[in-house]
Amino acid sequence: MANFIARDITMPNTAKHYDVAVIGGGIVGSATAYFLLKEDPQLRVCVIEPDPAYEFASSLRSSGGCRVQFTGEENIAMSLFSIDFIEHFQETMSTETQAAHVDWVQGGYLFIVPPEHAAQLERNVAFQRSHGCAVDLLSRAELKERFPAMHVDDLGVGAHSPLDGWCDPYGLLWGFRRKAVDLGADYIAARAAAAEADTVKARSIVLDNGETVAAQAFVNAAGAWSAPVAELFGMKLPISPVRRYEHYFTPGSHVGPLPYVKDMSRLAFRSEGNGYSGGLVDGHAARGYCFEVDHDYFENIVWPAVAHRFPAFEAAKCHRTWSGLYEVNELDGNPVIGAWSSGLSNLYTVAGFSGHGMMHAPAAGRGIAELVVHGSYRTIDLSRLGYRRVEDNAPYPEQGIL
Ligand SMILES: Cc1cc2nc3c(=O)[nH]c(=O)nc-3n(C[C@H](O)[C@H](O)[C@H](O)COP(=O)(O)OP(=O)(O)OC[C@H]3O[C@@H](n4cnc5c(N)ncnc54)[C@H](O)[C@@H]3O)c2cc1C
Repeated sequence: MANFIARDITMPNTAKHYDVAVIGGGIVGSATAYFLLKEDPQLRVCVIEPDPAYEFASSLRSSGGCRVQFTGEENIAMSLFSIDFIEHFQETMSTETQAAHVDWVQGGYLFIVPPEHAAQLERNVAFQRSHGCAVDLLSRAELKERFPAMHVDDLGVGAHSPLDGWCDPYGLLWGFRRKAVDLGADYIAARAAAAEADTVKARSIVLDNGETVAAQAFVNAAGAWSAPVAELFGMKLPISPVRRYEHYFTPGSHVGPLPYVKDMSRLAFRSEGNGYSGGLVDGHAARGYCFEVDHDYFENIVWPAVAHRFPAFEAAKCHRTWSGLYEVNELDGNPVIGAWSSGLSNLYTVAGFSGHGMMHAPAAGRGIAELVVHGSYRTIDLSRLGYRRVEDNAPYPEQGIL
């Protein structure tokens, strides 16, 4: 750790100096700042975040889902840690002046598949159970018994994880941010606009307000903007912004409380108050920073899918549609977490969660903090999610439903 405290004499004199500069102050960047200061309270940490209102940040557009149903060991381990952390968020993260509410709802997740995918889902569940996850397989008859409003004739099997659920992403983001500030982090309301580096290390970043921030380590946590931020340092990240809609809708007749239901077509929705919140992810949507809402999307794409699964949604009414960006890792849909070891070794990335960044922020933030402070992972080994696989063009994808 001592090498991060020592100030480098090659840094510009007029710069603000920090040990670690986190670029991007959404849920992932704020969790990273918090865990850096937990690992080493003496660290000087800043978070560069141009948009204190988070108008476009993915963090505040998330639907809050947290689940253990993955097939990658790292994703499962991150989920187990993060869900436990989120459940106990208020105890851990409240400050002396402000309670940290995340409104955790243990509503469960339900993955449903047609008969031809039953064997794969059964394998996934066996793997998840062997890694300590609570997941029950439900036959078609059991699905009907448990969720009478559901059309099950075309289904093979379901996997229900009762300890999963959802939380309020606003509370999660601000809880992390306030606690990080409480522990000493500086949030700087500006955009990283340029970077200065020598052949082996990043030295400083220039902000769009003209200031320079010099640091011993830099963490790229800019979500859907992480590729252009990497580019400032000369690093290529295959992470693209992909628009995704979320809808709040109500059925024509009673459906009852539902877990977070997901199927192979990437239909995903859950109970929210008196209605339901969710959408159908179009993985082939055009890449780009587009937030425009297509108000026909619900009627043309989502409504037929929900009405097929729950006939009470034949008369569904969509009350609100909003859009946000997934930060999609085009290589394999999993995040890039780690140092750029073959380039600027003090430039770290924690981005590319491809739609799972809210739920994995606590574990990923802790992991990257361990790597920055200790040079190695101390809890969950996230090495396989490192940038090396991008350089080697060696995808490490999930086998489960995305
Ligand atoms: C509709 C929708 C539903 C979702 N549902 C879920 C869900 O149920 N569960 C789940 O886990 N995930 C979900 N996600 C995904 C989740 O929201 C993201 O994975 C997560 O928010 C990523 O967090 P982040 O902090 O990396 O990104 P962001 O919150 O986008 O933060 C990145 C920050 O970087 C800043 N930035 C950009 N450029 C620069 C720059 N040059 N310099 C400095 N800062 C910069 C931005 O201002 C931004 O605030 C959903 C996403 C959407 C859109």
